[in-house]
Amino acid sequence: MTQETFPRYSKGRSIKTGFRRQCPSCENAKIFAGYLKLKSECPNCAAPIGQIRADDFPPYLTILIVGHILLPALVYVELTYHPPTLFQMILWPSLALIMSLSLLPVLKGAVVGFMWSLGMKGDEQH
Ligand SMILES: [Zn+2]
Repeated sequence: MTQETFPRYSKGRSIKTGFRRQCPSCENAKIFAGYLKLKSECPNCAAPIGQIRADDFPPYLTILIVGHILLPALVYVELTYHPPTLFQMILWPSLALIMSLSLLPVLKGAVVGFMWSLGMKGDEQH
């Protein structure tokens, strides 16, 4: 089945549904088979979610967001409190890892929802 036969909502609604890692078509079922792997189709409405290729966009967004939060925090903490170097060598990489691993799956869901709302599969040629 193709994407055209399934309901499609606004970009904002689809992104919000994707943040919850749910099907952007029926909004009632989880679309992830694992941490980042999409199910081939929605278990509820059979929408072909697995056809969508988000590629590098979710990691790009993750790096962008984590970098823009952590870097100013790092500079602020260093200039204000001057914590020991060892403390910072443990703190900042740990925070970056936790934030990245937390954000990546929800951002992938959001990107998949956004692509679904546009009718994209990720293999378009321009
Ligand atoms: Zn569905």
